[in-house]
Parts: sequence; structure tokens; C-alpha cells
Amino acid sequence: MVHWSPFVVSFKKRYPWVQLAGHTGNFQAGDYGRVLKRYCECEQQCLQKLKEDILQPYVPSYYGVVKKDEQDYNVMDDLLADFESPSIMDCKMGSRTYLEEELTKARERPRLRKDMFDKMIAVDPEAATAEERALQGVLKPRYMQWRETLSSTATLGFRIEGIKKADGSCNTNFKKTKQKEQVMKALEDFVEGNTKILKLYLHQLEELKSVLEKSPFFRTHEVVGSSLLFVHDASEKARVWMIDFGKTVPLPEPHTLDHRTPWVEGNREDGYLWGLDNLVDIFTTMLSQ
Ligand code: ATP
Ligand code: MG
Ligand code: MG
Repeated sequence: MVHWSPFVVSFKKRYPWVQLAGHTGNFQAGDYGRVLKRYCECEQQCLQKLKEDILQPYVPSYYGVVKKDEQDYNVMDDLLADFESPSIMDCKMGSRTYLEEELTKARERPRLRKDMFDKMIAVDPEAATAEERALQGVLKPRYMQWRETLSSTATLGFRIEGIKKADGSCNTNFKKTKQKEQVMKALEDFVEGNTKILKLYLHQLEELKSVLEKSPFFRTHEVVGSSLLFVHDASEKARVWMIDFGKTVPLPEPHTLDHRTPWVEGNREDGYLWGLDNLVDIFTTMLSQ
């Protein structure tokens, strides 16, 4: 006969780590429910400041730095910990994915890049100009700007980086997903036609938008290369978080951004809220069909 103890300790299941972007070596498992990401000072500063900002519920909680095998890591919440076989999507936000300072740096010693030329024509043989073809090379700033026009980054202010579904299937091949209709198809497939999940996501995106519009942190930072991580599972729980602050940098005072004004070099606008507006429109359209 089995005697049940009144003191039930529930050991949570172990779950697999899923990563939709970045180098695989950048992450390590932490204690249960936490994850270690390769240290980056810029990201640490952001995670630290975000603890005091109204955006806090929308970012992974931050627990400081640990050293493991001579490498420093930022410790944060593993956002998948409370889900059972989750479906996950990473959406990179903004109308450009490089910082203004990266563009300036790329211009410092202009050099023709054959490797970038080759990558360019491998994707689109028509992309290079006659001059670039004659030289068999492109300048890095030109390449950086061209790359943003391939996906929906330049036209919609966000792009899908990757989707992993509950059945284990994974797709990170969205580099040329550009048109609104293509994005909708990918989202439809991600939620597998479940309108309840779509509604939950839409509700959170709208809430996040209104918090972003009031956030002191957001107003005073250029937010580039940061993603929204969408997570849902079969229990129809769905959440959206902001992740990846490796290229989120403070603006010199008193400079602030509205994150909607189109970018012209020097104004540092990143198109983050414009992208979120478009994302909200797309979810709304999908729900009205
Ligand atoms: P990149 O700059 O190329 O986008 P990165 O090395 O900065 O990559 P992130 O973008 O922060 O890494 O994360 C990569 C992936 O790891 C995300 O797409 C997501 O799948 C997963 N991930 C990151 N942070 C978390 C987290 N706190 N909880 C759960 N999953 C996470
Ligand atoms: Mg990322
Ligand atoms: Mg990053």
C-alpha cells in the first residue's frame, strides 16, 4: 500500500532549450527556470535599468552576472519554463537592424568587399549595380542597407527570425519573407488557425504598445536588433516578451525618440513602434477574416 505524504513536493519536468537566433554557444542552461546568455555590457545595463521601468513585466527578470569556465554570463529568466511543449516565434523589431554607429564605422575605411558582393548576387543576381558588377565588390554600408530590403524590416518595421512549433518543426528561413500576405501566412501557420491564441497575442501587443509609449527607458534608448518572443502552448496560454538588448543604447540627453518617425541618418529613430503598429494591424486583419 502506498502512503501519500501530506507534504507534496512537485518536481517540475525538465524541458528542452530552444533557441531561434544567435550563436548556439551564446547560451547555457542555468538553475531551473533561468538561462545564461554570454555577457554583453550593453545588454547588462539595459536589463538592469529595465528592472526599474514600467516595461519590467515584458522583459525577462535579471539576476546579475555569473562566471562559468572563464566566461561571464548574464543570468535571466528562461521564458519557456512555464510552458508545456511550447510554440515559439522570434520577431526582430524595427526598420533597421544595425546601429547608426555601425554604419559610421563601416564607412571609416571604405573597402570593396567581394564576400558581400558574392552574398548579394547569390540572393538576387539583379541587386548589384553595373559598377558593382564591374568591380566585383560592394561597400559594407551599401550591403547593410540592401540586406534590410530583403525581408519585411524596411517595409513593415519587423521581420520574423524564426518559428518553432510544438510538433518540433522549426523554420528560420524567413530572410525573404517581405510581403504582408507572406507574413500573415507564417503567423497563421504558427498559431495553427487558433483564433483564441491570436486574440491573446493581439491583446498583449496592444497592451505592450501602450506601455512602450509611456516608458522612460524606451523613450531614451535607440532599440535595434531587439526581438519580441511569442510563446504559446496547447493549454492556450500565450505570452509576448521583449528580448535581446545587445544593441539597445542610451541616447545622449536630452535626445529622445518616438520610434515612429522615419529614420534619416542622424535622427537615430529605429521604427520600433511603427513596426509594432504594423504587427497589430496584421493580427487585427487576421482576426477579422
Ligand atoms: P542575435 O543577436 O543574432 O539575435 P543573440 O545571441 O543576441 O542573437 P537572442 O536574440 O537574445 O541571442 O536569443 C536568441 C534566441 O534564444 C531567441 O530567438 C530565443 O529563441 C532564445 N531566447 C533568448 N532569450 C531567452 C529567454 N530569456 N528565455 C527563453 N528563450 C530565450
Ligand atoms: Mg536576437
Ligand atoms: Mg542580439
